[in-house]
Amino acid sequence: MSRVFVSDVHLDASVPDAAEQFFAFLDAYAASAEALYILGDLFEVWVGDDDPDPGKRRVVNALRQLTDRGVACFVIHGNRDFLLGRRFCDEAGVRLLPDPIVVELDGERVLVTHGDALCTDDHSYQELRSSVRTADWQKKFLALPFTVRDSFASQARKGSKAHTARVAPKIQDVNPSAVETAFRTARVRRMIHGHTHRPGVHDTVVDGEAAQRIVLGAWYEEGSYLVYEDGKYDLRTLPR
Ligand code: MN
Repeated sequence: MSRVFVSDVHLDASVPDAAEQFFAFLDAYAASAEALYILGDLFEVWVGDDDPDPGKRRVVNALRQLTDRGVACFVIHGNRDFLLGRRFCDEAGVRLLPDPIVVELDGERVLVTHGDALCTDDHSYQELRSSVRTADWQKKFLALPFTVRDSFASQARKGSKAHTARVAPKIQDVNPSAVETAFRTARVRRMIHGHTHRPGVHDTVVDGEAAQRIVLGAWYEEGSYLVYEDGKYDLRTLPR
């Protein structure tokens, strides 16, 4: 049986087409798989598991249906939905994995990560990341009323858009030596990540051995997913 991977679906009320496509994807591809791995940024924004937004509830229910059918579903935090918590996981029937994590696929150890931690050239982003990923920051933030968190997130998204427009594209991609270090530290020769919105399969050499980095694409304009089956990896797009 296959295992499927997605990342950066960025589900949001403003892009209903992407949500419909994601639901169709769950039915057509994930439902017949052994496991679905969601490598971060499933949601464009997530400010707490108490979000009453009907679009988000629909996603939770769709994942629940999938997991009730026996498909294991694993989620990694992205930079936009790092507040996905226990209640979300319980309701959707998914399991949260730490980032990064090494998974075994038929005996091969593969590093799986959202990918933002590899973008070490973007110093101001990494600074922001290290402050909002602390338990202390999250505890304080989640104690705020939902509406306050929601408006804070809108401000943060405006700031993030301005930052993305200002910073050179190369800065927003992975740093080659961070990638090499990740291969070496995890003692793997394959990694799968998203975040950069630059889908592709990159063959490289680490310490004299062939290595491969598979990058999932974002779902803003089309779907992107990876299928693993019988030792083969197939990165595919879903036209909208
Ligand atoms: Mn991301």
